[in-house]
Amino acid sequence: MGEVIVLAEHRGGEAREITLEALAAGRKIAERTGLKVAALVLGSVVERVAEQLSEYCDTVLLTEDERLAQYHSENYQRVISHIVRERRPRVLIMGHTSLGMDLAPRLAVELGFPLITDCIDVEFADGRIYATRQMYGGKLNARVSARRAEGYIVTVRAGAFRPGKAAGRGVVARVAPPDLVGEARMRVKGVVAPAESGVSIESADVIVAVGRGIGEKINIPLAEELARLLGGVVACSRPIVDKGWLPPDRQVGSSGKTVKPKLYIALGISGAFQHIMGMMNSQLIIAVNKDPNAPIFNVAHYGVVDDLFKITPALIKKIKEVKGMK
Ligand SMILES: Cc1cc2nc3c(=O)[nH]c(=O)nc-3n(C[C@H](O)[C@H](O)[C@H](O)COP(=O)(O)OP(=O)(O)OC[C@H]3O[C@@H](n4cnc5c(N)ncnc54)[C@H](O)[C@@H]3O)c2cc1C
Repeated sequence: MGEVIVLAEHRGGEAREITLEALAAGRKIAERTGLKVAALVLGSVVERVAEQLSEYCDTVLLTEDERLAQYHSENYQRVISHIVRERRPRVLIMGHTSLGMDLAPRLAVELGFPLITDCIDVEFADGRIYATRQMYGGKLNARVSARRAEGYIVTVRAGAFRPGKAAGRGVVARVAPPDLVGEARMRVKGVVAPAESGVSIESADVIVAVGRGIGEKINIPLAEELARLLGGVVACSRPIVDKGWLPPDRQVGSSGKTVKPKLYIALGISGAFQHIMGMMNSQLIIAVNKDPNAPIFNVAHYGVVDDLFKITPALIKKIKEVKGMK
């Protein structure tokens, strides 16, 4: 019986959310085909991650080697291609993350497997992989397939698959790494963590997020006042970080943080899919945007089509009234 292998991503001894999502994609394929699902965990001391993931799949393939302690494309490629040649999975799944985007094309070329990237849905039928990908900034969904091949690689978009519930206990199987002695052309000299602003948008219950519609840096205190009154914090879309108006740890989206607050207020954010991916699982989304066709309204529970500089002060005034503040 064949297999779907899902490459695990982990940080600080914990599997990342994208791993559980990619396992859900693997499980979806398995349900229709009877293929088994295996998680592949590479690292130095990562048995805990393997134990955690054993709840979500049939097998965990655990390869520990101190040279795998940090992500290293050449070493990872060497180990994964070795394991794929040994186990001959039908599908190899990775997150469409920095790691997946770096590794998947390398492996596809080396193994001669077709690669479909950034999938929001996957299906395996008649011995072929089918996937759904978004086009034109999310305006169209395209169902694509790849030429018939021995194996396929897909990368899945964060947020596209709902992680399954921990169910059952998979077997953890240790897999010895291949020889990594060869001179790697690349050396990881260290890992630089981004500067933290001391505010954790990931654990906040209330987020007031600002986008380019905020206009200028001097307007951000308006959002901060609203956030303060609601007991929340200010987050933002990527252009605000690019302009240096807020630090990188406030960015929500595919290249920022994923947040799930009870309340997410989006002020002047258009709703590009890269942003939506980071906030769509918020419990209540309220969007304020001048443009009635802004895609943010597709995910908002309540939408206000108006100028944020009119709506935000009015909201602040109302909250102060309700709280009996001047
Ligand atoms: C690889 C990659 C990764 C990315 N990662 C991220 C990410 O993690 N997070 C992210 O956010 N983006 C990300 N982006 C960028 C993303 O594609 C969008 O460009 C970005 O989200 C747009 O930000 P915005 O909505 O603030 O700006 P815009 O798209 O310019 O939208 C501004 C909105 O404000 C509205 N507006 C203007 N003035 C007012 C006003 N006075 N009152 C009310 N509404 C007003 C406008 O109608 C408009 O809809 C990424 C892009 C790439 C290519």
